[in-house]
Amino acid sequence: MSTLNVQSSCGDANEQGSLSVEHALQNMLNAVSAIGGSEQIHLRDAIDRVLAEAITSPVNVPSHRNSAVDGYAMMQADLPVSDTIISLNIIGRVVAGHPYKGKLKAGDCIQIMTGAQMPNLADTVIMQEHVEVDGNAIRIDARHSGEDIELGQTVLQAGIKLTPPQIGLCASLGLSEIRVRTPLTAAVFSTGDEILSIGEAPREGCIYDSNRYSMIAALKKLGCNVLDMGIIADDPDKLRAAFELAANSADVVFTSGGVSVGEADYTKQVLSEAGSINFWKVAMKPGRPIAFGDINGTTFFGLPGNPVAVMVTFYQFALPCLQKMMGITSPLISPIIKAQCTSSIRKLPGRSEFQRGVLSQTDSGEWQVCTSGKQGSGILRSMSEANAFIILEHERSSITKGEWVSVQPFSGLF
Ligand code: AMP
Ligand code: MG
Repeated sequence: MSTLNVQSSCGDANEQGSLSVEHALQNMLNAVSAIGGSEQIHLRDAIDRVLAEAITSPVNVPSHRNSAVDGYAMMQADLPVSDTIISLNIIGRVVAGHPYKGKLKAGDCIQIMTGAQMPNLADTVIMQEHVEVDGNAIRIDARHSGEDIELGQTVLQAGIKLTPPQIGLCASLGLSEIRVRTPLTAAVFSTGDEILSIGEAPREGCIYDSNRYSMIAALKKLGCNVLDMGIIADDPDKLRAAFELAANSADVVFTSGGVSVGEADYTKQVLSEAGSINFWKVAMKPGRPIAFGDINGTTFFGLPGNPVAVMVTFYQFALPCLQKMMGITSPLISPIIKAQCTSSIRKLPGRSEFQRGVLSQTDSGEWQVCTSGKQGSGILRSMSEANAFIILEHERSSITKGEWVSVQPFSGLF
């Protein structure tokens, strides 16, 4: 991992020593790289896994010499053109190891089994699932005549997170297993004497740990293996042991809280000794203090303690970094759209804000957004009722009702 003691430039923010969101993200992305090996898995288990090597077609589709499928062999010239349906006479049947002796004419076809040699003059096979048999004839509609994948042709690039149609494409080539990247292992723990585990009886002055659960959920959704390391008390020895254990057992470590400037607990002090960690003031709301770096070569994210700030910084910073670490080279885009803001929002220029919003469409189909209730960074409810981030850019000042704002729907992120 590269050294990260990045100084902010004066263009970054109006506050001394703070980094813009873009600059912070770029620093983090520069510091991480794809890690982990690969494994062979069945296509059935491949959804959302990251393809480790390009898929090349093991067959010609349609096949040329031996048929790769059960179907009907014919002359390509006979195939229907757009929007038409043709009918061909079945004049025989050919199976593997028994070449067809007769002659194929225009308008004829021969039923052919997988592995059988193509009859003379036949240059195309249509899968049996794609024809309709009617007595001694078959009917083919134009949409099944255009498939053309050459043997050896790359059909999927490495580094994609597999989607249902891509899995279907692999299956259409007859592949039952593919090579995907092994999942990342993420260790997650919370720190602080005031943090209670769910299941514990309420105690005065304490709050339940929500960050660990929202982070675990987000990491699982991404396909990470998660090590839940619980809550670590404000005790330097326990914290030191926890950071080391986490770094040695995981590819990436997440904590929340304890990284604010002037923080009284031991987290910062122990962290500074445990690895090469940067404590950044990022010019954003919520989520200003962020610790990022590495402990014994393992990437470390110390997210802010406030529950909404955790989610905002996770999706704005950790998600793109994790995608890079997972070897995803073409992430699915999470679109940022423009919507008309139906609330007024107070804002100071000089920091980016990520308000929680409810995005909807007007009767005429225009996008509109309003803020979702109280926006305090500890108010997780406003986030759980929201369906999008309203992104107010660094230089922007207050928003009056009716202004257009940038909106990032959660559906592209969560
Ligand atoms: P800190 O950055 O440690 O000062 O934390 C900021 C705020 O977030 C404080 O009110 C903490 O009590 C709260 N907080 C810290 N960790 C958690 C957690 N795991 N779950 C819920 N709230 C937390
Ligand atoms: Mg704390």
